[in-house]
Amino acid sequence: MSQIAAKLDLPEGRLETKLPDDKPLYGAAEARAEAERCLYCVDAPCIKACPTSIDIPTFIQKIATGNVRGSARTILEQNILGYSCARVCPVEVLCVGDCVYQEWHGAPIAIGRLQRYATETATRAGEPPLFTPKTRASAERKKVALIGGGPASLSCAAYLALEGHRAVILEKRALAGGLNTTGIAPYKLHAEDALHEVAWVRSLGVELQTGVEVGVNVKGDALLAEYDAVFIGVGLGADATLGVPDESGPGVVGATAWIESMKLGAPSATPLGRVVVVGGGNTAIDMARECARLGAREVTILYRRDAEAMSGYEHELAHAREEGVRVVVNAVPVGFMRDGGGTLFGVIVAEAANGRPILGTEHRLACDLVGVAIGQAKVQSIAGELPGVALDAKGCVQVDATTKRTGNRKVYAGGDCVNGGKEVVNAVADGRDAAHAMMLEWGQRTVTTKAKLAWTGAARG
Ligand code: SF4
Repeated sequence: MSQIAAKLDLPEGRLETKLPDDKPLYGAAEARAEAERCLYCVDAPCIKACPTSIDIPTFIQKIATGNVRGSARTILEQNILGYSCARVCPVEVLCVGDCVYQEWHGAPIAIGRLQRYATETATRAGEPPLFTPKTRASAERKKVALIGGGPASLSCAAYLALEGHRAVILEKRALAGGLNTTGIAPYKLHAEDALHEVAWVRSLGVELQTGVEVGVNVKGDALLAEYDAVFIGVGLGADATLGVPDESGPGVVGATAWIESMKLGAPSATPLGRVVVVGGGNTAIDMARECARLGAREVTILYRRDAEAMSGYEHELAHAREEGVRVVVNAVPVGFMRDGGGTLFGVIVAEAANGRPILGTEHRLACDLVGVAIGQAKVQSIAGELPGVALDAKGCVQVDATTKRTGNRKVYAGGDCVNGGKEVVNAVADGRDAAHAMMLEWGQRTVTTKAKLAWTGAARG
């Protein structure tokens, strides 16, 4: 994924490199054979199941006829991060889950792998650009600041840049890409692949400033004065904590913080040992599966309710079990055990009813590492920076469902800060829709909301 070379400064031998790709890139013959199985359905259910409404039968048909560049354009015009989405989307519950082959108990079309094949092949180094961004007279060329460098902002910025506007992403970290870079399970997507995609988006004309935190390095007022519009695309904040005795200290970590250090940090010489992960969502399952694959002696998920109440995907939980992860339900940690030096050696677990510990049922579970995956804080401070931007009762930014506009006419928002934490593909859809809405606001598009699904978004290369 690199028509533009990305300068990557990631530590050698970091842990994620030990976890190879579960679904490697198809070869040309494999892709064509799989594409030829597609029935190119009318009113295809797979399109309806895609949050970005990619025209799946069309892109697959183009692969089958050898038009891989055309296939990639069909995908990227609708979902500019179609490469990473091909690799990280839970296709089992989206497009693949709705493929008509499912009804006949046949193998569904491997839509994600075909999407990866088209986008990765057509954008690899040496390929000519797929898109030619528009040029605009300076009076028509707008300037948009995008807060946060994750999928929502990358999507919004890319569609603006392709239409000839100046899109400037402000990212507080050293690396952009958001969750794609810091949080995706490595057997789905490695950080360097996410960063190559960021570099490809930049090659479309998107500007990226890293180490810039709104509210710290630049104030909201200054952005509103300098830019024609502002897009808020920040993700979620720090991992929530359990609030039980002796939690604070080495060996008890937030799950997203651990995953990020596994993906981006220098490798540790300490073996993983016995791991306990607390939580029932996809982050908990991801950390458990990653630890199991990295050779942890044993991995246990502790969840406070029944298995049916877990918010993680069933297919991911099934994979975790296959990989040796033990799942203990109706159980909660009520304390941690540390030696005199503070080293963790166990967790005190109580049985739970309705998610609450039952007194007198406590027992000890030996472990060396605990990952806490019970949610993340919302980044609420951004609302205070931008007048008119309001939060709902859950701390999410309130927007109009269609335009993604906040209470401030110049400010739009999308992704996790609006939906509380969904998939990458939902963030991409929000960013794209906000870009459309901005251009409509500037009188540069007259398409209706319905028609925008067919909007091509870019001049053909
Ligand atoms: Fe092809 Fe399945 Fe989509 Fe039909 S539902 S167009 S068979 S991928």
